[in-house]
Amino acid sequence: MSSIGQHKDSIAFKNIATHILTQGKCYQDLRVLCKTIGHRLSGSAQASKAVEWAEQTLREAGCDTVWLQPVQVPVWRRGEEHLALKFSKEGDFIDVPMSSLGNSEGTGGRLLKAPIVMVRSFDEFEQLSKEAVEGKIIFFNYPFRQDFAHTFPGYGDAVKYRWQSPMIAGKKNVAGIIIRSISTGEDDYPHTGSTKYEDGSPRFPAVAIGNKTADKLEKACLKGNTEAILKSECRMQGTAMSFNVIGEITGSSKPKDFILVGGHLDSWDIGEGAHDDGAGCVQSIEVLRAYKQLGIRPKHSIRAVMFMNEENGLKGGLAYADSALARKEKHVFALESDAGGFSPRGIETTMSKKQREQFKKYIPLFLPYGVYNFDEEGGGADVSPLKKQGVVVGELLPDSQRYFDVHHTDNDVFETVNHRELKLGAAAMAMLIYVVDQHELLD
Ligand SMILES: [Zn+2]
Repeated sequence: MSSIGQHKDSIAFKNIATHILTQGKCYQDLRVLCKTIGHRLSGSAQASKAVEWAEQTLREAGCDTVWLQPVQVPVWRRGEEHLALKFSKEGDFIDVPMSSLGNSEGTGGRLLKAPIVMVRSFDEFEQLSKEAVEGKIIFFNYPFRQDFAHTFPGYGDAVKYRWQSPMIAGKKNVAGIIIRSISTGEDDYPHTGSTKYEDGSPRFPAVAIGNKTADKLEKACLKGNTEAILKSECRMQGTAMSFNVIGEITGSSKPKDFILVGGHLDSWDIGEGAHDDGAGCVQSIEVLRAYKQLGIRPKHSIRAVMFMNEENGLKGGLAYADSALARKEKHVFALESDAGGFSPRGIETTMSKKQREQFKKYIPLFLPYGVYNFDEEGGGADVSPLKKQGVVVGELLPDSQRYFDVHHTDNDVFETVNHRELKLGAAAMAMLIYVVDQHELLD
């Protein structure tokens, strides 16, 4: 790249950042999404409202075309839920904060009372005989490792205890599962999230407790005689029709080649889905709005996609990729923001070695904005089905220190998102799309 080219790019970056930091509307958009609609689990009335909101907001952002893409989504309903624990032989049952895991089965509204058996790992569980665990509630007590400097590796390490515990425990006829939340928090908030049963195996309750309750239960289990009473109503309720919401700016010279920027519109049914993933949605809309308002004419068609059902099925990501394949749409790049609305620090991608080498010379342009990490390999969940088709995908990497304190909890609310951090993330996405588009880096 010539120094003149570099200069031109750095001016474009400055214009993008200045525009979004001073005129950006993503923070206001997020306020509307969180405060007038709130959480929006797939198949819920709020999810339908969020679809309408996204369609209207994309239109107002100035997209050339906006449309809805049908997606059949699973419906899971929580209902009422209570957990009481007995921490010693003589003690009373005490109500504790809890959250059923997404897609799990409840007790059908009946009381389930059973002794608790604690294990610290799947290995430890495997070593126990069937008689030792049959009819018991298994407490998978695996703490989120705090020794990683960034939290995503810690999440990757611990999340199998949320996702796989019913598959592992189901082989030995247990009555239920309690997991220590997949949480960095030094508090007692339970974190929900999807879980999975072995196909055809019996379904039993699976719930999360907060770190403080887990600490207390751990101590009690070491002394013996712990029991749980669980009453919950959660269950799968078939499927429902929903939508991905898509807005597009038509490319000036390569309108049939697409660059995607997106987030997921659905959220868990607690909190407001502010960081996860309202932030990614409003940032993606901001990218297109900024292009329109700044008069940037992209070569490729740029799509903002609000995916439905990332949290408990990924049906939106799958439907989008199926449609792209059926319509023979060539995607050159698909970028997602689904790691929190915090200060951007980098962007992970699945670029090849050669593509990374080419991209390297653009990294200095990002440094004034605190965005430096382009070394990681990866991409967002919703764009992973496109990756399977060979599309280069990516994901915004925000500062990760606070995300897993609030992720999938009552605390993932608008107030925990900072307006400047959110906007700077949108600017970083717009900048990356700019160089990929203008320099045809991934064509
Ligand atoms: Zn998410």
